[in-house]
Amino acid sequence: MKVNILGTLIDNISKEKALKILFSFINSANTQTIYTPNAEICMEAYKNKTFQQVLNEGSLVIPDGQGVVLASKILKTPIDEKVAGFKLILSLLESNKPISIYLFGSNSDTVERAVSSIKKNYSNITIAGYRNGYFKDEEIPLIISDINKTKAELLLVGLGAPKQELFIHQYKDKIKCNVIMGVGGSIDVLAGKVKKVPEIFVNLSLEWFYRLLKQPKRLLRMLKIPLFLYICIKKRIFGKS
Ligand code: UDP
Repeated sequence: MKVNILGTLIDNISKEKALKILFSFINSANTQTIYTPNAEICMEAYKNKTFQQVLNEGSLVIPDGQGVVLASKILKTPIDEKVAGFKLILSLLESNKPISIYLFGSNSDTVERAVSSIKKNYSNITIAGYRNGYFKDEEIPLIISDINKTKAELLLVGLGAPKQELFIHQYKDKIKCNVIMGVGGSIDVLAGKVKKVPEIFVNLSLEWFYRLLKQPKRLLRMLKIPLFLYICIKKRIFGKS
């Protein structure tokens, strides 16, 4: 079931169901897209309707953060649980299924380290190919043809939002992977460049606070979250945002 968060349609599903859907997408004949909006991204989508439409056309759109879950509760259409994109990728890597993946995003050194780490830790996974996420528009046809040559089943695109979602939407019909997923900074985490949030912060729903401590430059971006929740409260009280 989809929940409407200020115009962005988000799937209200459990982590287990999301993983099942991801596996079914990997076996699907058509290219499927997965987006992982958090509160900042929902706020961006609220302001930018073209971006919102792109998210709304995703095959699976998961609530990647407590901010989205809180917003859903304020709007009286509660989402049961947060489903983090990074956790979904980890569950996929940890499954014993043989899957071929192409990593696209982050800088060259980081994506190479992510590839080594996956090869070392997950013997079921084939890294079909990879490249950094910094390119000129004229390079895109070559990038896509390189991705297609590898015959990867799953393409992880980590260019940050909204760049990755717009890229996926625009080129999904040319890309021959079964699943294309926007993964934000997950390649950085897989490479060990950005640390995984410690469980204690996760349990206290304070992941955002940990990220802020580690990357203070995120503060400006995060200031959007209180505004986003304020708009949700206004919508609940007055019926319009
Ligand atoms: N990035 C990229 N190409 C770009 C801009 C960003 O590959 O043109 C990468 C950047 O190196 C980082 C990721 O995109 O690995 C964005 O990470 P961030 O944590 O900002 O993403 P979020 O998960 O917050 O969307």
